[in-house]
Amino acid sequence: MAGKAQAAVLTGPRQIEFQEFVLPEIGPEEGLIRMEAAGLCGTDYEQYAGHLTGTPWDITPIIPGHEIQGRVERIGAEASRRRGLKEGDRVVVEAIIPCGQCFQCAIGATTLCESGLGYGLYVRSNSAPHLWGGYATHLYLHPRALVHKVPDNIPTDILSLFNPLSNAVRWAYELPQTGIGDVIVIAGPGQRGLLSVVAAREAGAGTVIITGTKQDKHRLALAKELGADATIEVDSEDPVRRVLEITGGRKADVVLDVSAGATAPIIQAVDMVRRGGKIVLAGLKSFKPVGNLITDKIVINEIQMLGVLSAGWVSIEKAIDILKRRGHELQALCSHTLPLEEADKAVRLLGREISDGPEVVHLALTVDKSI
Ligand SMILES: [Zn+2]
Ligand SMILES: [Zn+2]
Repeated sequence: MAGKAQAAVLTGPRQIEFQEFVLPEIGPEEGLIRMEAAGLCGTDYEQYAGHLTGTPWDITPIIPGHEIQGRVERIGAEASRRRGLKEGDRVVVEAIIPCGQCFQCAIGATTLCESGLGYGLYVRSNSAPHLWGGYATHLYLHPRALVHKVPDNIPTDILSLFNPLSNAVRWAYELPQTGIGDVIVIAGPGQRGLLSVVAAREAGAGTVIITGTKQDKHRLALAKELGADATIEVDSEDPVRRVLEITGGRKADVVLDVSAGATAPIIQAVDMVRRGGKIVLAGLKSFKPVGNLITDKIVINEIQMLGVLSAGWVSIEKAIDILKRRGHELQALCSHTLPLEEADKAVRLLGREISDGPEVVHLALTVDKSI
């Protein structure tokens, strides 16, 4: 089969090189995806900047891109039958390719699969069939890859929210079981924090509060547009006191920390969550300890603390459903789309190393059909 794929390959920290790969032959259980877009998140920047040292994701050369959407370009007969997919179908592909056999897969926790196979972070580009990442014109569809069929009519940039929105669905709704009338505080107005406002509203939360810093003015205003009832600027206000005021002393049923690096929100969460409430920890802190955390408060108040990293099949299906119904309301989040050729600039924009005017909230690399 003729044809070549083009890919942005990360060959070392801060080094992106464009390379060509021959399109692979596709066996009966495999497929080939024509990329439409790859969404970017903080992990893309950490990977680019070489900050993943000491993690399993510290590998090069690699085609980055783990938030994948595209169309089925070729599919083997067996894969087509089993997956109910045909050429031309629009899909999103999960980052992790579960082995199906390890302990975590066996108990259904495929996102915790120990096998280390997946897209964008897991397999070197010198390992055939090479196309293991989303910063490319094509993606190899492994027989065990998890693929969701998606409607044609969701705009490219809106659909590229599927990954962060699936995280928000799991973190703000599914795991803490947020329900009708609940009070939820979201610490950190990054794309996941903002989408958590949307997920909490979908869940029926009664009061949605979001916190941020002075720098986050634009994002806090966006949060209001997306349905937050109150915003707290932590530089000038005491977030615990404000939550007590807003809730009339009842405190929050759920506190979700999606802030990056800061540990104060965790200390504050313990004081702003009600007895028996839940704290969901999703923001990474560069392995810093959380100073002055008094665990007796957690014990005495029967607070549940839950760590989360990603989201799986069910959360992604719910995210796609939200995008189908109200994707158009999320347009303001999609601040940037750049072509694949500008991968290097895209990652640096995301990392706030450079700016091109409007603040980056959500960024997607798109693949032009003409490449
Ligand atoms: Zn991501
Ligand atoms: Zn597994």
